[in-house]
Amino acid sequence: MKYILIIGDGMADNPVPELGELTPLEYLSEKGEKPAIDLLASRGILGRVKNCPDGLPAGSDTAIMSIFGCDPNECYTGRAPLEAAATGIKLNAGDIAYRCNMVTISDNDAGEILPEPTDFAFERRRMLSHSAGSIDGGLSERLVSDLFSDPEFKKLAQEAGMAVNPAQSFRHIAVQSGVKDGAKNIVLNPPHNFPGSPVGEILPSGNANAKTLAELQRAAYLFLDRHPINLELRRAGKYPANCVWFWAEGTAVELPSFTKQYGKTGGVVSAVPLCHGIANLIGLEPIFVDGATGELDTNYEGKVDAAISALRDHPFAAIHVEAPDECTHNGDLPGKLEAIRRLDGLVVRDLLEKLGTTGWDFRILILSDHKTLTSTRGHDGTPVPYAIYDSRFTEKSTKKYTETSADGGELIPEGTRLMSLLFDDEFVSAK
Ligand SMILES: [Zn+2]
Repeated sequence: MKYILIIGDGMADNPVPELGELTPLEYLSEKGEKPAIDLLASRGILGRVKNCPDGLPAGSDTAIMSIFGCDPNECYTGRAPLEAAATGIKLNAGDIAYRCNMVTISDNDAGEILPEPTDFAFERRRMLSHSAGSIDGGLSERLVSDLFSDPEFKKLAQEAGMAVNPAQSFRHIAVQSGVKDGAKNIVLNPPHNFPGSPVGEILPSGNANAKTLAELQRAAYLFLDRHPINLELRRAGKYPANCVWFWAEGTAVELPSFTKQYGKTGGVVSAVPLCHGIANLIGLEPIFVDGATGELDTNYEGKVDAAISALRDHPFAAIHVEAPDECTHNGDLPGKLEAIRRLDGLVVRDLLEKLGTTGWDFRILILSDHKTLTSTRGHDGTPVPYAIYDSRFTEKSTKKYTETSADGGELIPEGTRLMSLLFDDEFVSAK
């Protein structure tokens, strides 16, 4: 038996007025535009699961930890340490890891980007994009490297004990050393949850170290806003990556071994450091695919092939697709719908076809890790639908993979139980 986990990041949602009060998943089911995902639900077990424990941030960090059987209440120290693990960054005791996003802030308090930079007050500008308009990975890496080598900024960063590990996307990791209680009581706002907010209202706060971080962000803005790459991006009508944003703070983390918990080895195919980091920490193989971007244009076929190839050596493989979440954060509803269509046609259908030629019996667990809401462009930690399909199932029902259809199924109150259900023959055969 082979086991496959498919995570469509943030695809679950609440009813959307533009879709006639249907959720994106429901809308696509009505139109018959996600037949493969709905097939998994109609032949399988459909229910709801709560992956984000109350009292912790609702996001892919807590949700995906739960899905992989790690209780966030016990193991969660923040998102950045999980991502740091993806690149092999070793955190020492007392170090604080942060996500360091490349972001776009506006040129004025009307939330506009103008053809030329302005001298408008930093605090009254607005957060426009948590990803600097999904900036190209190479440009992002050059900008952050230039920033941390700029003599003035470098001096400030060194005083703060801050170093950066550039990534090939908007998601850099920064590590701060030698600041006692630097993370204690600090409030760092995830930029994707505050589109349109005035910068001054969402800057780091809560302790003395927050002031240091806010000063670094202001200094980063002063350097980046007039950087030649950003002037070029403006000219091309694109968002400049004109500020950095620290968030997702956390200290060193340890997670329970997947293989010890479930007796299975395997790999995790993803484009985002969070999933690769969790994989590293639980002892699964992080699998990288050329052209996997975490955006709508990702290499879907390459991801499926990588998962099949992992399944030749292991009983378990996971495929994570980030695009539905990113599109929702970008306020791009057509993009979200298209991301789910592609997950359906280019991942699930392709996977079913390719698995069909192997002769293996297989089981698939598909779910959204958390809801990402079109209404707020932010995350929501309420239960999401899950479906478990077994290739030996033949019985059909009218169930679809939607929020309402799943309402009729059992609610699993903790996502940490999911994986053992996937591996549980009795649970699956008793459906
Ligand atoms: Zn998200």
